[in-house]
Amino acid sequence: MDANPLSTALHSLRQAAELADLDPKVIELLSVPKRTMEFTFPMRMDDGNVRIFTAYRVHWCDALGGFKDGTRFTENLTLDELKALALWMTIKHGVGGIPAGGGKGGVIVNPQELSEWELERLSRSFMRHLPIKGAWVDVPGADIGTSEKTQAWMLDEYESIVGFHSPAAINDKPTEVSGTFGTDEATGLGVYYIFEQAVKDFGFANDCSVVVQGFGKVGSVLARKLTEGGYKVLAVSDVYGGIYSADGIDCVKLNEYFLKTGSVVDYSGTEPIANKNLLEMEVDVLIPAAVQSVIHDQNASQVKAKMIIEAANGPVTPEAEEELQKRNVPVVPDVAANVGGAIVCHFERIQGLTDEYWDLERVRNQLKEWITRAYDQMTATAKEKNSSLRMAAWMNALRKIEASAKKRGWV
Ligand code: NAD
Repeated sequence: MDANPLSTALHSLRQAAELADLDPKVIELLSVPKRTMEFTFPMRMDDGNVRIFTAYRVHWCDALGGFKDGTRFTENLTLDELKALALWMTIKHGVGGIPAGGGKGGVIVNPQELSEWELERLSRSFMRHLPIKGAWVDVPGADIGTSEKTQAWMLDEYESIVGFHSPAAINDKPTEVSGTFGTDEATGLGVYYIFEQAVKDFGFANDCSVVVQGFGKVGSVLARKLTEGGYKVLAVSDVYGGIYSADGIDCVKLNEYFLKTGSVVDYSGTEPIANKNLLEMEVDVLIPAAVQSVIHDQNASQVKAKMIIEAANGPVTPEAEEELQKRNVPVVPDVAANVGGAIVCHFERIQGLTDEYWDLERVRNQLKEWITRAYDQMTATAKEKNSSLRMAAWMNALRKIEASAKKRGWV
């Protein structure tokens, strides 16, 4: 299959739509974005020169609610990738029961080359020139190259434009600027809640063994929770390499080492292991939490894990999933496993709209409730339709979108 991310997303859409017996008009509606915005804006740099920046925002489908999700400041920004991500977010919101549509956007820029003042002006300029925005229309969050700092500037700019307090217009803000607690841990913690549910469901022992690839924002939170939960983390890796211990790694202590050294490599009491070998280890559960397409047609037959949970986006290629399915290795798909971040973004919006702010415990409890519900709905559909978990998650989202589109009279 074509490696273009939009083709991959549309392929999953058509496969799931067929299984769900979706109305052809809904498939047509979901195969194209509602709108694509490409715009440019001038910005004065610190040296006095003016530079013209190109920016995008894609709105896929808003049958379930206003558009929402990330903003990338990166040089590697293509419209096709943004479209694929906006479609995926539309589905992810459906899977998570989040009343929102899928949006994605960004600016072509290398943020490392900008001074702090330039980064602030860029965030504000993006917000000023973004053609459609607001709490009930499109709520941009952070993503690659953006952070709670850029989101605070965007909110401040937006509120200056409209002239009133509107905290729900931007997501991923600091708590001091009407953000929510729990943003940093949301995705990793959500994967952990899904893991707990899945190991129970598939009959693994309470102390089953786990391997985690990636020790970043998602992987490090997840690995720490696994240690705290009493699971045996046999191996962990990052881009520099992996570490292994037959007795299990204490990932809470490993995190302290990681914060000092910037890598998991050479952590005491462990042996080195290459990323390639880590993916092929004898283990109960393998959790890729790094980058896409790490399990593919060339290595899928070597994967010995009894279950895979996709913490990263798209770590298992469709060809690899076919091979794993033949061997009855369940793959808990990304759209369900890593939906925790999107769920907590929705909580941030609720708090902004009501101006009533939650404590961390409430965020965690609500996250567990929402993500467990999404998991239960997915497994129920997989049983009913005798499908993969991925197709079940997609079907659930598509049915919700179809029901809304029909009642609205769109199709
Ligand atoms: P991150 O950049 O914080 O961490 C990525 C980790 O993967 C790092 O430890 C890095 O060293 C490691 N890594 C990179 N390339 C690797 C390679 N080739 N082999 C092994 N390890 C490698 O990223 P993150 O935010 O933790 O995101 C991880 C994945 O989860 C991505 O696929 C991302 O799209 C997805 N995701 C993240 C979030 C979120 O809230 N951060 C939400 C949904 C999905």
